[in-house]
Amino acid sequence: MNINTIEERQTISIAEQLAALLGPGDIVLLTGDLGAGKTTFTKGIAQGLDIDEPVTSPSFTLMNQYSGSIPLYHFDLYRIEDPEEFLELGIEEFLYGKGISVVEWSEKLPELPNSYLQVSLKLGADPEGRQIIIEPYGGYYQELVSKLRQEVFSDE
Ligand code: ADP
Ligand code: MG
Repeated sequence: MNINTIEERQTISIAEQLAALLGPGDIVLLTGDLGAGKTTFTKGIAQGLDIDEPVTSPSFTLMNQYSGSIPLYHFDLYRIEDPEEFLELGIEEFLYGKGISVVEWSEKLPELPNSYLQVSLKLGADPEGRQIIIEPYGGYYQELVSKLRQEVFSDE
């Protein structure tokens, strides 16, 4: 699924629509350059989960936990230099835990989960525009993406 957003609000709204389809244990891996909108996308997911607390990137703590309609575990692995570090931190159990995990810089994970949703954000020529590519890995996420597609494109 490929969407070109023309402003931040639209990125938030797509993430919010995605959140409505997510359930406990779901994993969203976010990739994209600095400033591409990974944290912005996570804010949208948090809004969709009725989280009122402000969402900021856990650059130093590597993971923030929020309690919403479903718990949200927000990872930012930017500072990890060696994938083994992730295992040493003992936060892997959250990734496979009962909440929804959203992982910025998921390239740094020591290994990919068996199934997950991949969201890639890309900067373009327009400073307010972003290309968002949403790809399912695993049958469950395939169904989720087809539902999301219906939701997002029925709004247009
Ligand atoms: P990252 O976490 O990938 O480093 P952020 O979400 O922190 O990126 O920053 C993205 C920046 O780009 C924010 O300042 C946001 O306001 C801005 N922005 C502009 N247009 C968009 C858009 N269409 N979607 C997402 N963010 C956008
Ligand atoms: Mg970020």
